[in-house]
This record gives sequence, C-alpha cells and structure tokens, in this order.
Amino acid sequence: MSVLIYIENPNGHIKKSGFEVATYGAKLASSMGTNAIGLILGSATNAGDLGKCGLSKVLQANGLPTNEFDAQSYSHVIAQIAKDHQANVVILSNTANGKALTGRLAIKMEAGSVSGANALPDLSDGFSVTKSVYSGKAIVKYKINTKNKVISVMGNSLQPDMSGQAIDVEQITVTAPTTKLKVLERKTSDGIVPLPEAELVVSAGRGMKGPENWGIIEELATALGATTACSRPVADADWRPHHEHVGQTGVAIRPNLYIAAGISGAIQHLAGVNNSKVIVVINKDPEAPFFKAADYGVVGDLFEVVPRLTAAVKKFKHA
Ligand SMILES: Cc1cc2nc3c(=O)[nH]c(=O)nc-3n(C[C@H](O)[C@H](O)[C@H](O)COP(=O)(O)OP(=O)(O)OC[C@H]3O[C@@H](n4cnc5c(N)ncnc54)[C@H](O)[C@@H]3O)c2cc1C
Repeated sequence: MSVLIYIENPNGHIKKSGFEVATYGAKLASSMGTNAIGLILGSATNAGDLGKCGLSKVLQANGLPTNEFDAQSYSHVIAQIAKDHQANVVILSNTANGKALTGRLAIKMEAGSVSGANALPDLSDGFSVTKSVYSGKAIVKYKINTKNKVISVMGNSLQPDMSGQAIDVEQITVTAPTTKLKVLERKTSDGIVPLPEAELVVSAGRGMKGPENWGIIEELATALGATTACSRPVADADWRPHHEHVGQTGVAIRPNLYIAAGISGAIQHLAGVNNSKVIVVINKDPEAPFFKAADYGVVGDLFEVVPRLTAAVKKFKHA
C-alpha cells in the first residue's frame, strides 16, 4: 500500500502547486502509516526537491510526449504505475490537467474520487474528504468507501512543507498507449504566475468602462507582483482574455490577496474568489454586494483610488 502523487512539471520545472500536492500526499501517507511516492511524467530540473516535502521516492517516467498533455495516455500511465507500486490512493493538483485526469483515473482504478479537496482527509472514521460547494457557502464532507481513491487538491489548500532532504530521482520508462487525440494548436501565456497558482491577484470589472483603461490595473498588479483577473462580462466583451475570467464559469482561485475594482460581487463571481484569504473591494457604490464579502473596502471612484494605491505600494516597496 502506498500513496502516489502525480506532480505536474510545466516547462520541465515543478512549481509551488507541485510542492503543495507533494506535501499533501506526504502528510496523508504519514497519517496512513505508509509511503508517499511522487511521479513526474517527463523531466523536471528540481525533481529531487520533492524529497524535502517528505516523499520517500520520486519516479521520473520517460517515454511520453511530455510537451503534449493528453489525458487519455497520461491517465493510462498513472493508473499503471499506481498498480505497479500498490498505490491505492492517487493525489493530483486540481488544475485543468488534474481535473481532466481525475475522472479518467477513477474509472480505470475503480476508485471513489473527490475533485477540489480543500483539506487533508479525515481518517478518524474511515476516509473523509472535504470540499467547498454552493459557491463557497458550504463545505461538504465525502466519505470514500472504495479501496482505491483519487483526490485532486485545490491550489493554496496548504503551504508546501520543504523542511526535509532532497532525494535522488528514479528513472523509469513507460510506453505511451495509442491515443485518439491530436493537438492542433497550443497557446500559452508566458511570464506571469497562472491564476490558479497566484498568491496576489488584482481584478477588475465593468466599472473600468472599457479595455483602454486597464493600464491602471496592470500598473497596480506590476507594483505588487500580482496576476490580473477580471469578471465574466469583461472577458465576454473581449476587454480582457478569457483565461483571466474568474468565477463560477471561469477560474476558481484562492490567493492570499484578491483586489477587486469595479466589480459588483455577483454570486457567480464570488463563487470563484471567496476562498481568497484577504479580499479588498474598491467600488463607488456603497451598496455593492461585494462589500459583504470584503475584508477591506474602499467606497470611491476606482480611477482615483487605484492609482493612489499603486503609488502607496511603490512608496512602501521603495522604502
Ligand atoms: C450562469 C451564469 C454564470 C456566470 N458566471 C460568472 C463568472 O464566472 N464570473 C463573473 O464574474 N460573472 C459571472 N456571471 C455574471 C454575473 O452574474 C455578473 O453579471 C457579473 O459578475 C457582473 O460583472 P461586473 O461586476 O464586472 O459588472 P457590473 O455588474 O456591471 O458591476 C460593475 C460594478 O462597478 C462599479 N463601478 C462602476 N464604475 C465605477 C468606478 N468608477 N469606480 C468604482 N466602481 C465602479 C459599479 O458600482 C458596479 O458595482 C455569470 C452569470 C450567470 C447567469
């Protein structure tokens, strides 16, 4: 019996979310009294650092076309490696790729699965996993009764614990199965922390009046080292790219800081952001619903408030 953790390695490098999920798997394995094994498909320059999270073994599987994620072949390989290592629990990140793998793996392993777990499983009475539901208004607890279990973990659910020692990475070779998918086009946004991993997010909505005004949002984001986001109507109107849209139908995020300027705070928007640790709302309407979810609120015109906030951040950083 062991816990297998699939760790994503975009561009040959493991990011914070990878160390988070490794920490999650290592802590779970420890409470189950078993070993945690990390799995990377392809290479990662910092793979050995996974040992610091408490993994007893890190496998680097070669033989798959790693620059073309394919949920069919990846899930096939992960399920096979889980079987080979008697892993009856598989842990993944709840990223777009992780979500695509979770259901497929659950079918292949005849496993009970939970996607978007927000905390470590509770083993006091069987095996229970919690996740946030109803736009973050409730937490549901699922008891998984099957022998095999597949869990994808929401980003920022726990801090990576890297207090251990780096370990040697074990190379294995896998055979890619025949796949029915062909990647025709690949679009990536380079140079910014992707929204699901961002710790600081500056977001704006229809209160911006038009795409030409976004400079003040980008300037604040740059001053803070934050990622930019937006409400859905803004993305629908092509003021901002769709990958920035957060909410029920967009990306769900849990940053440490979420600054929302000119966003009303509709329930569908809150669904994707109300797990943020600190929410700051800037809105000229004191009755805007977002203020009810805010930790800090500024009632005012964003075109005055945002540049002043940027100036204050720059002054603070300079000092
Ligand atoms: C099925 C469904 C799914 C949806 N999914 C999503 C989703 O995933 N994400 C999402 O965001 N929405 C989603 N929506 C849309 C959602 O209901 C709201 O319509 C949307 O979030 C509103 O966007 P907004 O706050 O930017 O715009 P508005 O509602 O137009 O609000 C603009 C805000 O800006 C303020 N404002 C205006 N000018 C200024 C100024 N100068 N300074 C300061 N404040 C100012 C106003 O007071 C107002 O509160 C969904 C809707 C449906 C029906």
